[in-house]
Amino acid sequence: MPKLADYRQIAAGKVRHLYEVDDKLLLLVASDRISAFDHVLSTEIPDKGRVLTAMSVFWFERFADLVPNHLVAWDDERIPGEVRGRALLVRKLDMVQVECVARGYLTGSGMAEYRESGEVCGVALPAGLVEASELAEPIFTPATKAEIGQHDENVSFEYVESAVGSDLAGRLRDATLEVYRAAREFARSRGVILADTKFEFGVDDSGALVLGDEVLTPDSSRYWPLDGYQAGRVQPSFDKQFVRDWLTSESSGWQRSSDTPPPPLPDEVIAATRARYVEAYERITGRSFADWIGPR
Ligand code: ATP
Ligand code: MG
Repeated sequence: MPKLADYRQIAAGKVRHLYEVDDKLLLLVASDRISAFDHVLSTEIPDKGRVLTAMSVFWFERFADLVPNHLVAWDDERIPGEVRGRALLVRKLDMVQVECVARGYLTGSGMAEYRESGEVCGVALPAGLVEASELAEPIFTPATKAEIGQHDENVSFEYVESAVGSDLAGRLRDATLEVYRAAREFARSRGVILADTKFEFGVDDSGALVLGDEVLTPDSSRYWPLDGYQAGRVQPSFDKQFVRDWLTSESSGWQRSSDTPPPPLPDEVIAATRARYVEAYERITGRSFADWIGPR
């Protein structure tokens, strides 16, 4: 069985690393790191990488008929035992350099843009929407990938058309909205709101559009508890709320506006957050996390 060190690392994000297995295959490895308020915290959440990987696999398999995806295997001899359960063997794609975001609710950078202009990514929205308003129809709000440490920048559909051509732009938009709609409906039936999500697509050798990266995880999506949802205020995050609440509480001693890195999380916040990730996985998928694979 290979070791992780046998593979060449070709990219490192804030939370995940990418390795080359051969000229056709990559290994996408999720860590237990967590970010909050634009900081990667010094404390890890045990099992987060495995939970998010399991969730991504669930969605890839569920929507395989809707859109092709890059998943080759999640339990395989080519996956090093040390990262088993939090690594995916995937097809190497020519990635489209557009972050494909679908929003069914108005929040975050979408809300900020709407307040300024009444539009999000060039999509005009009706007046009178408030924080966390549900939109009449989900909208495609693409963004360009930022350098590490920078925010992705929202762009218009016309911008995407000029960057990748109208045909591909249209396919990206249609696939993004189709998968988002299906996932949102499914999540809602499990008592969770999928407020928005980000997909990354690639193109394979035959020119087909293929869903890549991780999908519909709490790191690429906003999940809110359906119970207690109320437009007009910032919704609690299904997964990160304990972290946010503690960091902004007096007991953390941390100022969000300061440049200093957040302090380490206390054990009870770590445990509660781990439990939230597991709960999100189990609620949405109906599967038990105890059944998911782990290192060997
Ligand atoms: P961050 O998400 O931390 O802001 P990032 O997006 O650069 O940074 P990750 O998301 O951790 O980092 O890394 C995943 C990288 O792998 C992305 O650049 C993504 O485009 C790329 N990727 C995902 N799937 C594939 C694939 N099938 N083929 C080629 N590249 C892929
Ligand atoms: Mg990323």
